[in-house]
Amino acid sequence: MTEILRVENLAKSYGTFEAVKGISFTVREGEMKALIGPNGAGKSTCFNMLTGQIRPTRGEVFLDGARITGLPPRVIWRRGVGRTFQITGTYQSMTVIENVQMALISHNRRVFSLFGRARALYRTEALALLDRVGMADQAERPCSVLAYGDLKKLELAIALAHRPRLLLMDEPTAGMAPSARIALMQLTADIVTEEGLSVLFTEHDMDVVFAHAHHIMVLNRGELIADGNAAEVRANPQVQDVYLGG
Ligand code: ADP
Ligand code: MG
Repeated sequence: MTEILRVENLAKSYGTFEAVKGISFTVREGEMKALIGPNGAGKSTCFNMLTGQIRPTRGEVFLDGARITGLPPRVIWRRGVGRTFQITGTYQSMTVIENVQMALISHNRRVFSLFGRARALYRTEALALLDRVGMADQAERPCSVLAYGDLKKLELAIALAHRPRLLLMDEPTAGMAPSARIALMQLTADIVTEEGLSVLFTEHDMDVVFAHAHHIMVLNRGELIADGNAAEVRANPQVQDVYLGG
């Protein structure tokens, strides 16, 4: 498989505290990869460096072999690195399909004042995306009335509207019931398989991780202590010590 993301010696310090201590890894095309580790391990800091939200203290990030280290979030996003965002504020008062249409308008560089006219233009595409996440029947409902699990599916559809080649999902199933967690990540895995995009996600539920990740990385106190398939990671003594509790 072709490698899409390459991370080399990536580090982030806050004052004298090094939250991420020079980690290196790759994500391949069509791969679903998990980044796990205890709270405070540095997972979100790592994701925020990949999306440009945080400037690394040192190290490099390459997308398709091109250096993207320290580029502004908007530029990295345009290059195909997407992420899921929580639907909040005014987006809550819009309908499900309007939220996806907004994402498509933004992706196609239309200005928001054209929303009225663009509405019809992106309706079909928006419906197709909603159908893809099993939400087509809820298209006209306001987001504010959605069940939590459905809101998470909508967030996935919005992220997909930007046609990412690599999608970063930081704790996508936080706050969800176990069965809903499995369902959301199964849906994500199906999309990965069908569309050939790559997903890097963090997740606390080990059942979800072992069921859906092709490869798993373990971060502990800013250091990458394992990177491999489920069997390799499970068998890693360091992982058993610090993460899985023996
Ligand atoms: P995780 O997502 O794995 O739980 P984080 O990346 O959020 O971990 O945090 C890693 C470490 O960096 C933690 O010890 C956290 O307290 C620290 N940290 C995160 N952001 C900041 C910040 N802005 N200033 C200082 N320390 C931070
Ligand atoms: Mg985090």
